[in-house]
Amino acid sequence: MIGIYGGTFDPIHYGHLRSALEVMEALGLEEVRFLPLRQAVHRQQPHASAPQRLAMVQAALTGQPEFRADETELGRTGPSYMIDSLQHLRETLPGQTLCLLLGSDAFNSFMDWRQPEEIADLCHIVVMQRPGYWLPEEPRLRALVQERNTQSLGALLNATGGQIYFQPVTQLDISATDIRRRVVNAQSPRYLLPDSVIRIIREQNLYAGYH
Ligand code: ATP
Repeated sequence: MIGIYGGTFDPIHYGHLRSALEVMEALGLEEVRFLPLRQAVHRQQPHASAPQRLAMVQAALTGQPEFRADETELGRTGPSYMIDSLQHLRETLPGQTLCLLLGSDAFNSFMDWRQPEEIADLCHIVVMQRPGYWLPEEPRLRALVQERNTQSLGALLNATGGQIYFQPVTQLDISATDIRRRVVNAQSPRYLLPDSVIRIIREQNLYAGYH
């Protein structure tokens, strides 16, 4: 099984890295692909450029061979839709089980994504969250969870996609927004993200004009 971790990664931080590691170990994933999106669809555009965010992801993943940066979305023009990336990954990884890793905040707005049902067919969705089963309030998302939820690892292994699985992860209250704010306020972001990423932020003077 391969994990797909999408995000803006503006910048990547320990909240992303730690949750990816815990899911990889819990599910026995062969690898986790970090997929920086080029152009956001449902949120403000990233502040650092696509090559800068990719460089930060690559720096952060050094030394963890199962973690790979995936440039699928960066090479595309126009908005980054997860359905397009997954269809592409499906073609390049035939027969592989794909697990889309989503924080509970991202999962909450999942029904606003383009073709959510098709995404849920193409891969398993692994919701990284606080311990415990949780039923979302939004009726369509609630129905999707009721229809596809499994607590069995075997069910994930037996199909290439289609299930929703809740995986508890250590809660690290770190966000890229907070890191950008610290950088622009000349506060140290140290211990929230890898030093190698901080080095790139400093060298390239990223987020200087962030407000
Ligand atoms: P921003 O503050 O700019 O919105 P972010 O820190 O939330 O950024 P994203 O790149 O937008 O990071 O997030 C990508 C994915 O990572 C989403 O699925 C999100 O839920 C998850 N994620 C972000 N921060 C954490 C965290 N601290 N712990 C676990 N998952 C996280």
